[in-house]
Amino acid sequence: MWDFTSPDIVYGVDALSRLADVTGTRAFILTDQTLVELGYLRQVEEYLTANNIAIRSFSQIEPEPSIETVQLAHRAIVAFTPDIVIALGGGSVMDVTKVSWLMYEQPGIKIEEISIFTSYDTGKSQLITIPTTSGSGADMTPGVVLTDHQQGRKIVLYAREFQPSLTIVDPSLVMQVPAQVTADTGMDVISHAVEAFASPWHNDFSDGLAVKALQLAFVYLPLAYVDGSDVKAREHMHNAATISGLAMANSSVSLGHALAHAFGGLFPIPHGRLVGMFLPYSMEFTANSGDSRYRKLARFLGISSANEQEGLKKLVNEIRELARKIGQPLTIMQIGIEAADLEKVMPELIEKAASDHQMLTTLRVPDEREIAKLYRYAYAGKSVDF
Ligand SMILES: [Zn+2]
Repeated sequence: MWDFTSPDIVYGVDALSRLADVTGTRAFILTDQTLVELGYLRQVEEYLTANNIAIRSFSQIEPEPSIETVQLAHRAIVAFTPDIVIALGGGSVMDVTKVSWLMYEQPGIKIEEISIFTSYDTGKSQLITIPTTSGSGADMTPGVVLTDHQQGRKIVLYAREFQPSLTIVDPSLVMQVPAQVTADTGMDVISHAVEAFASPWHNDFSDGLAVKALQLAFVYLPLAYVDGSDVKAREHMHNAATISGLAMANSSVSLGHALAHAFGGLFPIPHGRLVGMFLPYSMEFTANSGDSRYRKLARFLGISSANEQEGLKKLVNEIRELARKIGQPLTIMQIGIEAADLEKVMPELIEKAASDHQMLTTLRVPDEREIAKLYRYAYAGKSVDF
């Protein structure tokens, strides 16, 4: 038996107006400074005030957010006692909101102890997510990634309750996203879909979502990157991000994310850029076990092949071609890291990758020697032959 879970999703042009129908009296909005400056916070506030809802906001959320930011946000939520909590932003805002909201709902829980195997008491307030980037899928996943600066590591947390009750996917909120962010987050969409499809937890429901998200991203990501004002491309990519997030929420991501989480804890590089870069290497490594679904996935994307190995190769080429088109790095070297700096942190990288949550959902789990080799191959851009 398996559960398919999803929030209520409102999408398309003017989706934001759904806020006029939200019931409650006090809304706490978490966002970041850029979105305040773009006037998006004001738009959200206007719908709520017209609905006689009192508002407070918190906009001090940084990219790749820290535990300290979660604690600050949590204190601000507790002080306001809202019955609605809204995340308006990209993955970082979503992650801070989900954790600080859960801490508000169930006082006394410790961040490190949050677990998918625990049920939490919620009901004080409803959680609403409004994504303003097309990528993280964090508007609907039960997962969160935070940065522990003291230990130089990423903390990955899961709780069923992190899935909001409502997600508003309005393309007008992504029209101003810079091309670089469009590219980084777009590669995250690709990675979520490929890994959800290839995961040992894949299922009939998540498969359909993963394939659709990939079909959309392959067509519309390059268009949205080249011309940010292309409304149709932006809308389809915004939908693709949420669809891909839903695939991931109901299946799982795997090795590419484990490698990226460990790496991102030591080098401050956007998550999407890293997962997109590590994806092909992790696909090759997984496929070398002789048991993978890449040929099948390639076929759904209209790429025919004679066997699994050729299917993998063609799919990897397709992903790299897309990455090239949108100016994304294909190797650690292209990211701008020196070989000596990589070797210096290798023992730490190995330890962090090996203990990453996503290794649990990896079809073929690399041992420590193989993790080091994967990083070295990804540095040099070598095709994985082990
Ligand atoms: Zn991701």
